[in-house]
Amino acid sequence: MNERYSVARGMRDMLAVDATRMSFVEQAFITTLRQYGYEEIRLPLLEKTELFQRGVGEATDVVSKEMYIMEDRGGDSLALRPEGTASCVRAAINNSMLRGNNPRLWYVGPMYRYERPQKGRYREFTQVGAEAFGYTGPDVDTELIEVGTVVWEQLGIAEHVTLELNTLGSPASRMRFREALIDYLTPQREFLDPDSLNRLSTNPLRILDSKNERTQQIVSQGPNISDYLDSESVEFFVDLQSQLDARGIAYQCNDRLVRGLDYYTHTVFEWNTDKLGAQKQLGGGGRYDGLFEILGGEPTHAAGFAVGVDRIALLHENCEASVESDAADIYVVTPIGVFDTRLDAIMKGLRARTTLRVKRHMGGGRLKVQLRQADRSGARWALIAGDQELQKNVVGVKWLREARDQVDVSIDALAEFFEQQHD
Ligand code: AMP
Repeated sequence: MNERYSVARGMRDMLAVDATRMSFVEQAFITTLRQYGYEEIRLPLLEKTELFQRGVGEATDVVSKEMYIMEDRGGDSLALRPEGTASCVRAAINNSMLRGNNPRLWYVGPMYRYERPQKGRYREFTQVGAEAFGYTGPDVDTELIEVGTVVWEQLGIAEHVTLELNTLGSPASRMRFREALIDYLTPQREFLDPDSLNRLSTNPLRILDSKNERTQQIVSQGPNISDYLDSESVEFFVDLQSQLDARGIAYQCNDRLVRGLDYYTHTVFEWNTDKLGAQKQLGGGGRYDGLFEILGGEPTHAAGFAVGVDRIALLHENCEASVESDAADIYVVTPIGVFDTRLDAIMKGLRARTTLRVKRHMGGGRLKVQLRQADRSGARWALIAGDQELQKNVVGVKWLREARDQVDVSIDALAEFFEQQHD
């Protein structure tokens, strides 16, 4: 008996236009990042588990609850990457990328987190990330934010994306704030939700992110990071805001925004939308000057962002923004049935001289059957090249989506003909 397998929980097949939309969003980021001089880096899907334990932090949900961990045949503990920043920093250290050069990098690819799946939240999802190493900022922080802004415009979704901004200040001011927060929350510990209670000793800043209403209420009356910033931190944040203002980039300051990771310093930001229900966050980033040292490198300034392609594609679809499908433009029906060098040359010529997608019918069959397939393929034209036509040095062009009469077009003029038609 044949077993039928279903896809594993949290994993997805993306078909036709859904797949095209994912590529479209990725390409928008990749093209823009390249235009800004960012270079591609390809990173492994599997890393040593410790890299994420150290680099993302044991106190985060991502590491403590959501990692896919396996032991390989040699007994090493490996994890499917839950994010890209730790790998990127590891790669920069391992490959001495900062010698005489300050890299600005981008990557794209799947990430894995064992989360409870729902619309916009999957166990396998795709991120585009950008990281800039060796820059004190805030010029590069501004540039990273600008890249996102440019892409939202390009994708036609800018009006549904908001930018939230905060600063965590220098390590010293952050430490003072952390202590104040612990001092404030400890006497009220019995009123905190269980997760926040746990975080009180491991990652107290993350409590500011809690979705629990009671915790939120307690936190809202507590200390505020802006009261703990030293002058250097204030200056950095003011400078960042004036650079964003100068570029006309809109943002809202949110002093509860922390992004949970211990190594963040100064800038933190998030891009959000209210068009996707519970999944508000499209991406985020910030400055993480402490991470290189945590991973055994020299102290290095660093800033970056990661965006979730799946969610951006959903938003793009919700906005009814169109995306060009991968369907062929021209479907070539072949009444001759066998391989024909003349027809072959025609198709190669079209592919070489135009940007049109030219799909050849496969498997023979009567003309009527082939034309039915041409119609189903989604192509705009059927190109009919039978013996009769080829002997006259023409091919028949039939419009599949418009009520127009079929015409014969000279083979020599075919590329020009389609170029004129194709708007
Ligand atoms: P993070 O690395 O947690 O800051 O996530 C960056 C972005 O990745 C988020 O804003 C989301 O758009 C996306 N993302 C994170 N987790 C998931 C998930 N489980 N499913 C889909 N997208 C996700």
